[in-house]
Amino acid sequence: MDDLSSYIENNRDRFISLSDRVWEYAETRFAEHNSVDLLVSAFEEEGFTVERGIGNIPTAFVATYGSGGPVIALLGEYDALAGLSQNPVPHRDEREKTGNGHGCGHNLLGVGSLAAAFAVKQAIVSGEVQGTIRFYGCPAEEGGAGKTFMVQRGVFDDVDAAITWHPAMMNSVFTFNVLARSMIIFKFQGISAHAAANPFNGRSALDAVELMNVGANYLREHIVPEARMHYVITDGGGISPNVVPATASSLYYVRAPRTAEVKEIEERLFDVARGAALMTGTEVEIIFHSGTSNLLLNETLEERLYHNLVKVGSIPFDESDEKFAAEIANSFVKGGGDMLSQITAGIGRGVAQEIKEKIGGKVLNDEPLPYFRVNKALSGSTDVGDVSWIVPTAQLATSCSALGTAMHSWQLVAQGGMSIGHKGMLHAAKVMALTTADLLKDPQFLADVKAEFAAKIAEDPYVSPLPPNAPLPTELETPDQH
Ligand SMILES: [Zn+2]
Repeated sequence: MDDLSSYIENNRDRFISLSDRVWEYAETRFAEHNSVDLLVSAFEEEGFTVERGIGNIPTAFVATYGSGGPVIALLGEYDALAGLSQNPVPHRDEREKTGNGHGCGHNLLGVGSLAAAFAVKQAIVSGEVQGTIRFYGCPAEEGGAGKTFMVQRGVFDDVDAAITWHPAMMNSVFTFNVLARSMIIFKFQGISAHAAANPFNGRSALDAVELMNVGANYLREHIVPEARMHYVITDGGGISPNVVPATASSLYYVRAPRTAEVKEIEERLFDVARGAALMTGTEVEIIFHSGTSNLLLNETLEERLYHNLVKVGSIPFDESDEKFAAEIANSFVKGGGDMLSQITAGIGRGVAQEIKEKIGGKVLNDEPLPYFRVNKALSGSTDVGDVSWIVPTAQLATSCSALGTAMHSWQLVAQGGMSIGHKGMLHAAKVMALTTADLLKDPQFLADVKAEFAAKIAEDPYVSPLPPNAPLPTELETPDQH
């Protein structure tokens, strides 16, 4: 085993303990105070220089080691989701103290990147590599798009390349795109009145919300087919049908393959909202909440991540991991569709067959999947998108849960707090450490990564999904991000 992997293996207990503590804190977006304190102390003990509150975001930070160029970033997250409290057991069992849970595995995500940063620090100390390693503590991936705001506030401007990862149910590299996305709040203001005695004196804000939704549903036919629009009514006008509702609000997500397309659909949706206000004699306030971009993929960096994934090999899951995963798999919805075909949807048939052979009949994916690229955007969104338009960025995925585990589920929370998640996390740390070291010691490789980025960005410049000087979103409680 190389030095970087050995270092991570020799310090595994320390990394697992940090991950488990973040898992226990389970703090939601922009309130990750204990998690940040814990990770910041770990970095300081390791000799990193830490700057907290970067971009004027209280739970964002950067930890730096080394000096001079190149500057390579590892991105970490640590926010949890509301309503997903769960013990690390393979059946539904809520924890007592908190309603939250790490339903997207961000406890692993943050500490996996930290472990890679620590390993690269050792390589800087030993003189094996030269330059600067930075760990970016990125809050509120779920529903807050923390990184998009960090990008707008300039915190990544002098970084040469960035690497991150996400806990998954497979060992692979993100070689596919995601949808760009906006979240917008529509608040209607009307006039209340007795709904039977004098409704003619009232103006219903709820009517406006309903008419806006009707208009949006007609709009669907006339936008790009890959686009998605979804809404919820966040204020339905109260609980009294005998009062004409004076206030009502909705929250919309608009998604499309490109930020410019999202912006175009947004403008048409604003017209629909204004039309609904005009029809009902109400007023509408349109509040932009947050947004994320699609990814600017960097194939040069993705290929190297994959090369190192193969080099690190298989995850040593043992019998007790498999038993736990099998029990977890028993809890999945029956008839929820063939898991293999869900994974391989959108990939060429030959590769899909290879993947099927690799994971067929297994409950945990221990080996790297074959390298594949998907030319179609998958329908989720991530705030890594915005970083990727500022800095050449690539993302790894490692197996941290049983095949078929849904994101944002109690099953994922359970596995992120026990050895399946721990092993996936350490595996990711090794692959990222190797790739970061490659960027620091191989100028030609870094130059190739940057040349690909420069060529793509010259053809297709970055459009921020945020309005200028956007404030941090404070309007809503924890909507899910993906
Ligand atoms: Zn996530």
